[in-house]
Amino acid sequence: MNIIIKLSALVLIIFIALWQVSKNEKFQFFGNLIDRVETTEKIVALTFDDGPTKHQTKEILKVLDEAEIKATFYLVGKSIEENIQETKNIIDKGHEIGNHSYTHQRMVLKSYSFVAEELEKTNELITQAGYREEIRFRPPYGKKLFALPYYLNNKNITTVTWDVEPETYLDKNASASDISEYVVQNTKPGSIILLHVMFKSRVNSLAAVPLIVQQLRDKGYRFVTVSDLIGNSA
Ligand SMILES: [Zn+2]
Repeated sequence: MNIIIKLSALVLIIFIALWQVSKNEKFQFFGNLIDRVETTEKIVALTFDDGPTKHQTKEILKVLDEAEIKATFYLVGKSIEENIQETKNIIDKGHEIGNHSYTHQRMVLKSYSFVAEELEKTNELITQAGYREEIRFRPPYGKKLFALPYYLNNKNITTVTWDVEPETYLDKNASASDISEYVVQNTKPGSIILLHVMFKSRVNSLAAVPLIVQQLRDKGYRFVTVSDLIGNSA
């Protein structure tokens, strides 16, 4: 009996440890992961996850155009299929595109072939939409454990997470100014900011974008894509 209790405790501890590792933004078992870059330059990358969706894509592109900023979009394969024109519009505006899986499932305890299909299908869709640059990957919910990093390492694909995520730390109903305040307080040179603006439920995140741009610019920051950020790292 005693040994069973001990073994159960051990299994539980291992399970909790692996769960923590799976959601760690700074670590994965294999391959290259970046959550920010080391630089002394005041540069920062705005990144948007999910979508594209019809209405909200137009909205965020307008905001970025007005601010004269290039951002990075991690798109979901299935949504690309449903919104080809919106995908092309993002590409045409010169923004960076990344892969955010095909069905947006947690990539934990999934087979190698499942992971491969999710990523390859989405990369194909991004390429078909006309994108010709390097495509990096952002895991749905930031989750990864064994098969996903193993696959990414084999294919030499960089995982991009983030170091500033206001929506996780703030209340669901946080206002645009709460969101921008959080971002401005937590951004440092080389930061990668994560926002969700592709759903109507996230109108405050969308409304926060011009505030974030203005306030970080006032502090001397310049907005770049993730590729430019990586290119500028020390
Ligand atoms: Zn997502």
